[in-house]
Amino acid sequence: MDPSEERKHSKQQKEYGDMLGFVEDSQYGIPIRCACGGRIIDEVRGKEDYDSHPGKRFFTCINYEDNGLHYSHPWVVGVQEEMERLRKRLEEAEEVIKGVPSLNYQIESLEVNTNVWAKFDDRSD
Ligand SMILES: [Zn+2]
Repeated sequence: MDPSEERKHSKQQKEYGDMLGFVEDSQYGIPIRCACGGRIIDEVRGKEDYDSHPGKRFFTCINYEDNGLHYSHPWVVGVQEEMERLRKRLEEAEEVIKGVPSLNYQIESLEVNTNVWAKFDDRSD
């Protein structure tokens, strides 16, 4: 292989390796789309598959090929991750809601101050 072909080949290998890492890292929760943009189907592995998990459910890309570039995320893991993410968002939303009475009090105080200044302003005319 000539040096430029070799460089091109090693660049493609690196890009492929980066893509594998990206797909692996981005597979989290209940996927809506695959990294390739493909639709996700709710797949139940059949017993005829050469698979150690027959009958197990997966969130799988409709374009799935066993090349590491598509999602095939175990259903139980995806649902657990999604629940954890939703719980965290709920806790964050609860923190925001807890601050609402304090904000209402501040708004009322500002309204009172504005009314006092408006009356003061009326008298000065
Ligand atoms: Zn895909």
